[in-house]
Amino acid sequence: MRHIAVVGSGPAGYYTAEAAQKEFGDDVRVDIFDLLPVPYGLIRTGVAPDHQSIKAVSRRYEKTALSDNVRFVGNVAVGRDVTIPELRELYDAVVLATGAPKDRDLGLPGDDLANVFGSAAFVGWYNGHPQFTTLNPDLSGRTAVVIGMGNVALDVARILAKTPHEFEGSDIVAHALEALGRSTIERIVILGRRGPHQIMMTPKELGELGELERAAPHVDARDLPAEAEDAILEPGLRKSVTLLRGFAAVPEDIRAEKPVAIEFDFFAQPLALIGADRVEAIEVERTEVVAGRARGTGETYRIPADLVVSCIGYRTTPIPDVPFDERAGRFANDEGRILPGLYCVGWARRGPSGTIGTNKPDGFSVVEKIHEDIDSAALGPPTKQGRTGFDELARARGLDVVTFRDWKKIEEAEERAAREGAPREKFVDIEAMIRARGAPALKQP
Ligand SMILES: Cc1cc2nc3c(=O)[nH]c(=O)nc-3n(C[C@H](O)[C@H](O)[C@H](O)COP(=O)(O)OP(=O)(O)OC[C@H]3O[C@@H](n4cnc5c(N)ncnc54)[C@H](O)[C@@H]3O)c2cc1C
Repeated sequence: MRHIAVVGSGPAGYYTAEAAQKEFGDDVRVDIFDLLPVPYGLIRTGVAPDHQSIKAVSRRYEKTALSDNVRFVGNVAVGRDVTIPELRELYDAVVLATGAPKDRDLGLPGDDLANVFGSAAFVGWYNGHPQFTTLNPDLSGRTAVVIGMGNVALDVARILAKTPHEFEGSDIVAHALEALGRSTIERIVILGRRGPHQIMMTPKELGELGELERAAPHVDARDLPAEAEDAILEPGLRKSVTLLRGFAAVPEDIRAEKPVAIEFDFFAQPLALIGADRVEAIEVERTEVVAGRARGTGETYRIPADLVVSCIGYRTTPIPDVPFDERAGRFANDEGRILPGLYCVGWARRGPSGTIGTNKPDGFSVVEKIHEDIDSAALGPPTKQGRTGFDELARARGLDVVTFRDWKKIEEAEERAAREGAPREKFVDIEAMIRARGAPALKQP
């Protein structure tokens, strides 16, 4: 029997468990740890609340979670409640699937002003991540600036632009729905250093901006390259650029019928955030794109800004005893291998890029490496204690482990609390999740 500890219950963690089942059948036991009492990582706390069909991928993970040789070990933070050396002692392989939960710093003067947030915090707030429940962004201003030209920037702009009515059927948490309902923001500027040909926005998400009840996208036709130049783009990007062309072609009087403007400000690089205590404006430099890179032109201007959300990427959180690549912001690894018996996968391996599905080949590939390392005797004989050893350690340490069966109770309670038409009302703090679980299960399912 081989024992694998997967740290992190997001897509990469569950695809790894699924791959281990396929590769080793009944000869493996997989424990999936998570610091939250609830599973699925960014499927729950990142993917937009109004994109329920995407969140449905968790049903696939549930199938894996419910099999006999996989179990969920929630409410256990690796690095705090149990160390990496301890896990390596207990399991043949430890796979870090901890994602990239920290915002990349803007690194600009004024980025510590009030009402300036990174997207991990802002998205975590509207999605009910316990760490960001009390973020309390002030939406009482007029202008929000969203920095970044990827899908996360689109999510943030769309959520800021929607009416309460447009959140029907979503699982946006009550505190965010209420705050957005009172929002007075009427101008949302999406700021990008480069041009329309360099966006990282997919057509489905971009197209949604054209279908909002009270908001319309504004694109300046002068920012668009000659149409013939679109021919060199890969098909997805070409489609997105075609959508931008469509937005630019809408006559001003039609656009003005909608009271909220979502303006694309291309070729614009932020230089500084301005304000006394809280942000009031953003200083921007006009750029030009040379060989795909943005270059400042020296021309600057200011955009008033009452709220700023930067969506410029994420970093993995280091864990003691794990080599870290500071520059890249993820664990130092060679195609998933970190140290003998220690691996990484998903965003913790390759950084924050790709879709949910990109994590699947990642999970399967790390399991192949584990198999190779077993075959080459690099992992030693199958003598590790695995889950029995961990349960002993958890008891001795008084850890309050949340099992998958406990999670199902939490999930049922969230479904019961849902407002009309919504799939669930999430618990937004850990204590409430633990209370909903009831008395701890004596045995793991
Ligand atoms: C705002 C946003 C929206 C997105 N929307 C989409 C979308 O619509 N479609 C799409 O295809 N992709 C989307 N993605 C991308 C997708 O979410 C990622 O590809 C995917 O979640 C990465 O999976 P992961 O398992 O590597 O990390 P994560 O999903 O982040 O999972 C990591 C898990 O590890 C846990 N963890 C972290 N540290 C520890 C620790 N020390 N101990 C124990 N547990 C720990 C965390 O609690 C978390 O559960 C979105 C991403 C973001 C940020």
